[in-house]
Amino acid sequence: MKINNLLSASTLTVIVLTTMIACNNHPKEDKAVLIDPTNLDTTVTPQSNFFMYVNGGWIKKYPIPASESAWGSFKEIEENNHKILKDVLEAAAADTKAETGSNTRKVGDFYATGIDSVKLNSDGIKPLAAEFEKINGIKDMQGVMEAIARFQRSFLSPLYTFYADQDQMNSSKVVSYLYQGGVSMPDKDYYLKDDAAMQKIREEYVKHIEKMFVFCGDKPEVAKANAEKVMHIETELARSQRSRVDLRDPYKNYNKKSIAQLTNETGIDWKSQLATIGVPNTDSIIVGQPEFLVTAGELLKKVSVDDWKTYLRWKLIVAAAPYLSDPIVNENFHFFETVLNGTKELKPRWKRSLQTIDRLMGEALGEVYIQKAFAGDAKQRVLDMVNNMQGVFRDRIKALQWMGDSTKQQAVVKLDKFMKKIGYPDKMRDYSKLDIGRDSYAMNVMHASEFEFNRMIAKIGKPVDKTEWGMSPPTVNAYYNPSLNEIVFPAGILQPPFYDPGADDAMNYGAMGAIIGHEMTHGFDDQGRQYDAEGNLKNWWTSDDAVKFKDVAGKIVSQFDQYTILDSIHINGALTQGENIADLGGVRIAYEAFKKTKEGQSTEKIDGFTPDQRFFIAWAQAWRVSRRPESAKQRIITDPHSPGMWRCNGPLSNMPEFYAAFNVKPGDKMYRDDKDRVVIW
Ligand SMILES: [Zn+2]
Repeated sequence: MKINNLLSASTLTVIVLTTMIACNNHPKEDKAVLIDPTNLDTTVTPQSNFFMYVNGGWIKKYPIPASESAWGSFKEIEENNHKILKDVLEAAAADTKAETGSNTRKVGDFYATGIDSVKLNSDGIKPLAAEFEKINGIKDMQGVMEAIARFQRSFLSPLYTFYADQDQMNSSKVVSYLYQGGVSMPDKDYYLKDDAAMQKIREEYVKHIEKMFVFCGDKPEVAKANAEKVMHIETELARSQRSRVDLRDPYKNYNKKSIAQLTNETGIDWKSQLATIGVPNTDSIIVGQPEFLVTAGELLKKVSVDDWKTYLRWKLIVAAAPYLSDPIVNENFHFFETVLNGTKELKPRWKRSLQTIDRLMGEALGEVYIQKAFAGDAKQRVLDMVNNMQGVFRDRIKALQWMGDSTKQQAVVKLDKFMKKIGYPDKMRDYSKLDIGRDSYAMNVMHASEFEFNRMIAKIGKPVDKTEWGMSPPTVNAYYNPSLNEIVFPAGILQPPFYDPGADDAMNYGAMGAIIGHEMTHGFDDQGRQYDAEGNLKNWWTSDDAVKFKDVAGKIVSQFDQYTILDSIHINGALTQGENIADLGGVRIAYEAFKKTKEGQSTEKIDGFTPDQRFFIAWAQAWRVSRRPESAKQRIITDPHSPGMWRCNGPLSNMPEFYAAFNVKPGDKMYRDDKDRVVIW
């Protein structure tokens, strides 16, 4: 996996965008209320549960909205960003004089199709008619294979996932990858885990597929049989998938194969698959999980042409469902949001459309967003903060007790080579060749997806464009990308309460500083440490230091294995270790950088809190979130990030500076014996 998101689990080729913002409690004009005493829960002591002490009052005040599976600091910022973008989109849609082919015209037309409920509902399934006809016309396995490849170009990836990206072993080249895929539920566990909750979800899933086939025109009894066929194919694919923990090993998931060899091993004609996908002639490809493609090849022999046609119809309808008529949207929402995440209500139409456009044309929207929410000297001020943090990180590496000198030198070389992207790209994406109209929302989504796909495969064999961004400017998130050895902070996250030009240093370093430190530390977590300064998978560690890293990282794994949510579900310490290492490094580096500021060296209280206390409160505020139990259960399986409470409390339980600030003593729940505390970076 390429990108370590701060917030959401990233899928392989599509970054799940959760857009925008700002906190009503922090009016920019007036003096900001940075620590609102009503957000605290003083019935909980800071020594027993710091997260609840800082956020308990806020959690009670702001119940999760019916249309959300969770609510927290990221969502608050997103909400404000949404308001800004809604105005932009409404103005664009109403601007009848906007020049044909301009970004304004395109986002306006896109939005108009997304909110036109009358047309969406009268069209029903019609926008997919031509595609269904093509599937119905398939006569043999050659036709099936052609469709599987052709759909990779659109917004669905049947059977496997194809993408192009930098070569992990040679970051100056863009190459083709094949990755496991083909299923529609969030993880293989949903197909295979033998407990009552998962069995119930599987029953609901089959019922859901059946209903969707009825929307496609199947008779109820045919739809029922078809749903079982789809479930069979997806279960077989899930069976041969690797677990999320196994996917964390970059070497095991990098298998270069010649096209001839891969064809021989899988029985799939990859030369013609890649030609239909549109990949320029190539003699090799990187395969993530070879055994998965072997299973896919076997399944192609076992399953009939008719059943594959059924599977393809399913993959089409499940991908397009959010962009069709209300009954289809509602049924899709029922399974994927209500059953899987506990969400009660569909988001309003404008918000769903806005999120789709941000995901597919984010840099067109971003231009206006930046003018409204990230003006003036914001970029330089954040860059100054990033540079301070980098200096502190460098000193910390040099002072590490567990690492030897030669590895330290290499680590500093890597750190100094970080590319830093802040706010927005210098050059926004060119959408002039993208065809967007007012005919059909679903077609617009398909065109925009294919446009992105073409942009991606056009990079194969060309020099790497290091200026590209993987998130849109309004995104409330950040990432480290090991292949470019870069840290990226979109304007969307550089907002109060994470970053506020009017706030004191304790508040900015405790929140945004720690987030910057988090992304920097990803360059040195269990995955990131395996890439060198040039972005290549290449060992730069002495074997002794590599053993020591695994030893300290193992302690973090066991610390988080001990934490439980909903009384009995354990956090997966192995799955979350990269994020936990990044959180721990982030807050330490930010604390040390903060201590170099004037406020960091003072003891003067503000609003009744010392500078150190304010720093840790800002950290806890950044992670405030409440989540529905269904969503929490899903995240434990799929999300490499620990739940908010443990992202907050886990790292602090390793910091004596936190103990000192809040008088944490042996016997307190936040306390850990000296010998059990971990320092990695
Ligand atoms: Zn992260």
